[in-house]
Amino acid sequence: MRIWQEYAREGGLLIVLSGPSGVGKDSVLDEFLELGSGVKKCVTSTTRPRRKNEVDGVDYSFLTVEEFERKRSKDGFLESAEYCGNLYGTPRDWVEQENSLGQDIILKIEVQGGTEVKRQKPECVMVFIVPPSMEELERRLRGRSTDSEEEIKGRLIRAQEELSFAAHYDYVIENNLLHEAAEALRCIVIAERNKTRVGS
Ligand code: 5GP
Repeated sequence: MRIWQEYAREGGLLIVLSGPSGVGKDSVLDEFLELGSGVKKCVTSTTRPRRKNEVDGVDYSFLTVEEFERKRSKDGFLESAEYCGNLYGTPRDWVEQENSLGQDIILKIEVQGGTEVKRQKPECVMVFIVPPSMEELERRLRGRSTDSEEEIKGRLIRAQEELSFAAHYDYVIENNLLHEAAEALRCIVIAERNKTRVGS
């Protein structure tokens, strides 16, 4: 037993990673995971059509609207949200099982979902990624050329709304240089692992 067991956190960390579409959350997360931090990424569900480079079960669990609604009606999602016309949801069982085994996990979800996770699991660690500027965000969104012009415009409007949520998060990381952003996330995880339990 660890010497500080009585005032250490119980279970694994539940990390919520948010930030506007195009900010580079995926790249930061991939780079962070490659650093070998021992954190597992949660594969969430979506009704959005699969993009060319995406693999079912790895990037998302791709569901039909009917499948999604069936799972939602059985309380299968810890949170679910609509984003630019598509549904997204975090699998409740996976999160609770992994955390209870002491596994640190990370959810890459948008702000409504992040807020809902915080409400249900106040101990979660909320990290928000911001772009260096709005111009840079637009450039990155256009650069990835996976979305139509209409989708890009929708995502830019949504990005403005999402940025106003940053102040409600525990940490904000500016994604200017990818490796620095990933390193900042790694440092946050290390700090949180060494945190004492509040109120003990
Ligand atoms: P994209 O369509 O670009 O893959 O994702 C759109 C947004 O939905 C991103 O901000 C992504 O992080 C978020 N997202 C992915 N999975 C979930 C989820 O399970 N719940 C919520 N609330 N957002 C999600």
